[in-house]
Amino acid sequence: MKLAIASGKGGTGKTTVAVNLAALLAARGHRVSLADCDVEEPNAHLFLPVEWKTREQCTLPVPKVNETLCLGAACRRCVEACRFKALAFMGDAVLDFPDLCHGCGLCALVCPTGAMTYATRLVGEVRGGIARIRPAMGTSADRVNMADRTGRPDRAPDLPATAPVLRFRDGVLRIGEAMATPLIRAVKDVPPPTVPKDGAVQGPCAFAIRDCPPGVACAAINAVHDADLLLLVAEPSPFGLHDLRLAVGLARHLRLPHAVVLNRAGMGLPAAPSSTATAAGAPGSDPVRAWTAHEGVPLLGVIPFSRAAAECGATGSLMHDAAPEVRAAYARLADVLEDMARDADGPRRPWDGLGLAGLAGLASQASQADLATPATTVEETGATTDAKERACGR
Ligand code: SF4
Ligand code: SF4
Repeated sequence: MKLAIASGKGGTGKTTVAVNLAALLAARGHRVSLADCDVEEPNAHLFLPVEWKTREQCTLPVPKVNETLCLGAACRRCVEACRFKALAFMGDAVLDFPDLCHGCGLCALVCPTGAMTYATRLVGEVRGGIARIRPAMGTSADRVNMADRTGRPDRAPDLPATAPVLRFRDGVLRIGEAMATPLIRAVKDVPPPTVPKDGAVQGPCAFAIRDCPPGVACAAINAVHDADLLLLVAEPSPFGLHDLRLAVGLARHLRLPHAVVLNRAGMGLPAAPSSTATAAGAPGSDPVRAWTAHEGVPLLGVIPFSRAAAECGATGSLMHDAAPEVRAAYARLADVLEDMARDADGPRRPWDGLGLAGLAGLASQASQADLATPATTVEETGATTDAKERACGR
């Protein structure tokens, strides 16, 4: 299951959700990979004990004109074809502007003489590695004492060599480089680990999780493109709702199955403005919950605000052990995703049947249930489970 974790704005907790979810699913024995596609500010590795294995340069082909073959003013086809204004005609020569080039190759295709060749431009570096996760993370048996609530897998005592492995990859954009999308494409498709003979990694489901860049521009579109499910992390504020709307608009435009995870629920930010509350039919309520219910967008998880969890994030630690309510919220979200991904290798994947209409049906019941019980996620309602099963074709 390709799971893209994104948001309309930065700072909602995308990386927190991506890293903690990936670690929890890996700890449950599933085959999990995590790709940090936020190549302008990669930070997911700060939360995991990554053992770096590979470093590869990511380059982009950029045009280079062979002036002896170029027909000059009599032609200009390459200049007219380039949609990114990376070529211009000045005097009697074609000028190239490599920083504007997207490497699409169209100029070489239209060149009648073969005068358009390519050099390469360094875009950034792709790093790959693995992180070993405590096998028991996310289970009640693994609850640590609060004197050590860092939750960092690398600080866990006696981490066995056969501990679950999370395959990890990220990208570091070259300083001064404006084109993030080629690097994102190079980073995002990291497959989940295969099952090794020693049995270190097991489990029925395979999750390829992407921590996507914020916003709804080219970088985010490249990262979420072709995902099986887009999880939009939102914060309970009017600003968060504004940008969530943009992100949902993007998902609808791309026709991507999408759902919302409300992070830092109950943070105590101002209630929705009256216009939003009226539209959602829930004056004074959390603006994100009200809006998702009104719009029929599934609310798959509600992660409560917790000072202990915030302290974990500030120290670069996983937060499964920070607070019981946070731990339970992640566990419920993982349960939902497990159900959706189960039997994913079968002839019909569970989320194939969801579609936009199926998700809308799931949404209305899930969001309403969550509104009625603010600290409860969709998994706790029988109606939602029924809807999910119907959507999964069971
Ligand atoms: S490769 Fe594409 S973007 Fe780059 S100069 Fe040629 S046509 Fe323009
Ligand atoms: S298409 Fe080829 S021949 Fe024509 S102007 Fe461009 S480089 Fe020169």
